Amino acid sequence: MAKKWVYMMAEGDASMRNLLGGKGAGLAEMARIGLPVPPGFTVTTEACNAYYESGGKFPEGMWEQVLAAMKELERQTGKGFGDPNNPLLVSVRSGARVSMPGMMDTVLNLGLNEETLKGLAKLTGNERFAYDAYRRFIQMFSRIVRHVDPAPFERILDEYKEKTAGKQDTDLTTDMLKEIVQKFLAYFKEQTGEDFPTDPYEQLRQAIGAVFGSWMGKRAVDYRNFHKLPHDWGTAVNVVTMVFGNMGEDSGTGVAFTRDPATGENRLYGEYLQNAQGEDVVAGIRTPKKISQLQQDMPEIYQQFAEVAKLLEKHYRDMQDMEFTVERGKLWMLQTRAGKRTAAAAIKIAVDMTHEGLITKEEALLRVEPDQVNQLLLPRFDQASKDEATKQGRLLAKGLNASPGAASGFAALDADTAEAWGLEGKPVILVRPETSPDDVHGMLRARGILTQHGGATSHAAVVARGLGLPCVAGTEALRIDTERKQFTAGGKTLKEGDVISIDGTTGEVFEGKIATIETKFTEQKDLVELLTWADEIKKLGVRANADYPRDAERAREFGAQGIGLCRTEHMFFEEDRLPIVQKMILAETDEEREKYLAQLLPVQRGDFEGIFRVMDGLPVIIRLIDPPLHEFLPSYEELLVKVTELRCRGDNPAELAESEKMLATVRAMREANPMLGLRGCRLGIIMPGITKMQVRAIFEAACNCTREGVDVHVEVMIPLVSHVNELHLMRDTLEAVAKQVMEEQNMKVDYMFGTMIEIPRAALTADQIAEYAEFFSFGTNDMTQMTFGISRDDAEGKFLLKYVEDKILPANPFQVLDRDGVGQMLRIGTERGRKTRPTLEVGICGEHGGEPSSVEFCHMIGLDYVSCSPFRVPIARLAAAQAVAREKAKVAKDV
Ligand code: PEP
Ligand code: MG
Repeated sequence: MAKKWVYMMAEGDASMRNLLGGKGAGLAEMARIGLPVPPGFTVTTEACNAYYESGGKFPEGMWEQVLAAMKELERQTGKGFGDPNNPLLVSVRSGARVSMPGMMDTVLNLGLNEETLKGLAKLTGNERFAYDAYRRFIQMFSRIVRHVDPAPFERILDEYKEKTAGKQDTDLTTDMLKEIVQKFLAYFKEQTGEDFPTDPYEQLRQAIGAVFGSWMGKRAVDYRNFHKLPHDWGTAVNVVTMVFGNMGEDSGTGVAFTRDPATGENRLYGEYLQNAQGEDVVAGIRTPKKISQLQQDMPEIYQQFAEVAKLLEKHYRDMQDMEFTVERGKLWMLQTRAGKRTAAAAIKIAVDMTHEGLITKEEALLRVEPDQVNQLLLPRFDQASKDEATKQGRLLAKGLNASPGAASGFAALDADTAEAWGLEGKPVILVRPETSPDDVHGMLRARGILTQHGGATSHAAVVARGLGLPCVAGTEALRIDTERKQFTAGGKTLKEGDVISIDGTTGEVFEGKIATIETKFTEQKDLVELLTWADEIKKLGVRANADYPRDAERAREFGAQGIGLCRTEHMFFEEDRLPIVQKMILAETDEEREKYLAQLLPVQRGDFEGIFRVMDGLPVIIRLIDPPLHEFLPSYEELLVKVTELRCRGDNPAELAESEKMLATVRAMREANPMLGLRGCRLGIIMPGITKMQVRAIFEAACNCTREGVDVHVEVMIPLVSHVNELHLMRDTLEAVAKQVMEEQNMKVDYMFGTMIEIPRAALTADQIAEYAEFFSFGTNDMTQMTFGISRDDAEGKFLLKYVEDKILPANPFQVLDRDGVGQMLRIGTERGRKTRPTLEVGICGEHGGEPSSVEFCHMIGLDYVSCSPFRVPIARLAAAQAVAREKAKVAKDV
């Protein structure tokens, strides 16, 4: 027996989506559960694939099965295909397993010709309706099946509309439509060299062939390539009995969602048109009415439709997007599928449906994309305002979307200006070639950051994400002239003080202001509730990277369970401290250095006290100084220029002497590869004074806070360890300081000593390192840099983004953790470390800690927590819960 290529609707169900396509399976399922669906059948996706395998021929037996299915349709409807007295008409549509623009859309009214047309006129008692149906069919068949240019059809129609009083489609008389039909048929012949097919079976054969053909059409292929969908899925063809929404005032057609797709509110939402066919709604020829109007126009139909909507939602346990037609007072369902929705609606619907008992909490958690959480929390541009700006040519450039959110403000071209304006209360966007720690004071006062260079882990990006500020980085089309205080982009020159807008979610930069929409976390009741469900099931802890008490406060508000990384050096850059730090670095004797360290001690102690108070009861990981010291000093190039100028002018010997001294120190500290140089624990070993001071500050702060009644849990973290001896040495030195402080204060503090694992060698020798570490924190920024051998500061602007664009790499490894390489370092490090010390606490604190796929990987390898910037804590909470829910679902499926 020949293979089965055709399924009557009654033979299918929702589980057959791959074979029948989404539309076919959806129709079959609606019919199965007893909803009013016009009779029909589906030609399978396998038939489409076989069609391609045989070089464009229907597979053996398929056409015979189609003919048999048509006979069955005739039986079910009591009509005849091509019967002039009682004609059966059908619609033909494509339908792949996922909804896919770019394929063939619908051909309606197939089966009409000069004969059947008369039957339709007689049956409906409406000749005009029949001719209108015929002209629509010729138009659609020509365009969609035979790819005839549609414009002349419209021109012919317009010609006739001009002759009418109302100038609308609906004003065309029967005689006019008859003439139009003749002109359409002539045009078809002129274009194709053939007569328009009058045999309904020939019409059907061509239409099915055209659906198969559209699967490999350019738009469809491009769409699949873009969305990484396979080309061998094939499309199904749905042949369904026509029902007419344009048979008078008791007919109509519409599209509706079971809930509001913008807000998630539980009410029918949609539009319909009375006395119209589906294409009229889509084409926008007439303005549709709100679905609520149907309640007045056809109360019984509305009631029935509302019940169907409820039933479908209950059946599919998700919000549905439905198409329907009313033919002379009878409701027909034509399609149902899960409805697309905004972030706010996704969250509200998931939470509401859980309360309604429709879905479980775990399902609710899987219904929301972590990125949607982000969208909801960050300020975003009003779409209409953004579209308007684009239309007006105000889109200046597109850079890397380095930190999401949106902001408008006055462009400030240096950090001092940004700070000054910010303090005056002006909204500011800091615009820099790139940023460095010297710019932090300006960044703190800015609403957003725009840079010409740098990537996703550039200083600008990392700091912006930490502060929850939007950042567009690596905007190479931007040319910034810091001297003349102006910049050019998109062929325009803007001056400092001009207003610009940046969208860190998309990377767009606009001239002028764009309206923004803001929402507060605690006001997002549904989101807050959803995240408490996430906390109930997730296994990973979620901590925050926070350097200041105000970051820590925000982190707690967002649900962080501790601080996973406090980068202490950021405190050194504050304006009141930097001069002391610089003097400490420039000190020529130990004594002198000690003097400045003693000045820094109370300041650091104060910083830590602030953080401990906010994090009362929760763990706080404080990392000792990490960056190379030259970052605290002026740049070598700038100093060289300054000294040369001072020498030439010869008018300020005192300043010259001071600058020369600074230049000599900076020159001595210069390194070809500072990221691989004197930084991290190496600095602590070579210059122990700084780290000793920091540890003293930490423990003094811990003692003071404990005395106040604060519950302190501090974890001291040593950065950039590559050999166990480094850690051994550091720990001995620093633990002695800790003990000494506790003795002095006569107090015991709960603490741990641990290390960052951010160099491959450290991961590989984690068993040795764990001898001296009670906890590990993977610094995946450095680990990615060192595992790939790619400089995190330079690569993104130079080649990395191109690598991602050309798919040489599947994603930017500084954003999405590379599971195959860097991920293995994490896995090995964790396994080996825990072998030595089973109680070892292991987490990550690189930028990946707030990225959903990376969070899932951390769950899979059994880490204890992830740590990320405060604003990403809600995302990480959801992602950590989804990892558990997905794992459970997979186990359930595999059993
Ligand atoms: C890291 O390397 O992942 C890390 C958190 O440290 P930093 O980014 O400060 O080098
Ligand atoms: Mg690091």
